[in-house]
Amino acid sequence: MLTKRELKLLEIVTQIDAIPGLEQTLAKFVKAELERYGFIFVRDNLGSVFGVKKSKTPKAPRIMVASHLDEVGFMVKSITAKGFIKAEMRGGISTNTLLAQRVRLTLDNGEKLNGVINAMAPHLGKSSDGSMDDFDFDFGFTAKEDAVNAGVKAGQMIVIDGPFHVLNDGKRLVAKAFDNRYGVFLALEMARHFATKELPFDLYVGATVQEEVGLRGARTISHVINPDLAIVLDCSPARDMLGDDEEGQLGKGILIRYFDRSMIAFPELIAFQEKMATKAKVPYQYFSSPGGTDAGAFHLHNAGVLTLTHCICARSLHTAATVVDTFDINAAKKSLITILNNLNAEQIAKFKQARR
Ligand SMILES: [Zn+2]
Repeated sequence: MLTKRELKLLEIVTQIDAIPGLEQTLAKFVKAELERYGFIFVRDNLGSVFGVKKSKTPKAPRIMVASHLDEVGFMVKSITAKGFIKAEMRGGISTNTLLAQRVRLTLDNGEKLNGVINAMAPHLGKSSDGSMDDFDFDFGFTAKEDAVNAGVKAGQMIVIDGPFHVLNDGKRLVAKAFDNRYGVFLALEMARHFATKELPFDLYVGATVQEEVGLRGARTISHVINPDLAIVLDCSPARDMLGDDEEGQLGKGILIRYFDRSMIAFPELIAFQEKMATKAKVPYQYFSSPGGTDAGAFHLHNAGVLTLTHCICARSLHTAATVVDTFDINAAKKSLITILNNLNAEQIAKFKQARR
């Protein structure tokens, strides 16, 4: 079970709108939280936001705990004569999930407009072939001028509305953007936990931008931080609805993500992650994914960076109705604290040596 404070934080971070390239509101929130815990602000020129807590140990290694700020969504493309908005996807969303969804547009001044994605009534025939041109975003405008006068312009952000609800007495949660507000939440929890503890390494905590469009912020922030070890927090697609033997079962603990499209995991780090999960008395499950995470960019920085993913699985990923398990979130938190409590220069040198 999560505490009231933890649930509130998850609600706040899932309900802030942030698509790739337009993450400023969430970045501001994360920055304020990091500063509240005494972390010193670190930023790249794309908008990634991190804080550092320096170690008193001389020549301490740098460990980065990274989530990503952006969620999948849409950008306004054009306005039709009838006043409908046409939009383009930012990040991968299945068009099967779009019809009759409630949506929210953010104007340049930050004001929000509510709308829907129109669905042609079944008795009128026409079904979509899945192209974004088939979808009319309807904000109630009666004509193009109406939308223009309201301040609607190309490039503005639209997200699907996905309110935060606690399910089944707190066992599960549903909301939009758990990918990757799970990570944003956990990163902030690490800042809170380690705020007053002396560590044998510089702890960098925060979130990148533009992960969903190709790990872009991960590349730029790597140059700023130049980590010795990166730990990537993200949500992976659950496959438990396909059967009990499938990888990615909700409520069965953290994912030992040994392979994905963006990175073949470091076996030394996987073994360490497993050992730490056992030490924290947290269950874990092996997981491979056809997708990728920011780890794909981090581990290729400079001559290569030791990188580990620390993920949980979620149902209906990349929709506004993503379901996660609070036991998994707790498990991820406990085992990540254990991982960080057991890392030091010597351990990192050992990991590096394994490849030489
Ligand atoms: Zn993600």
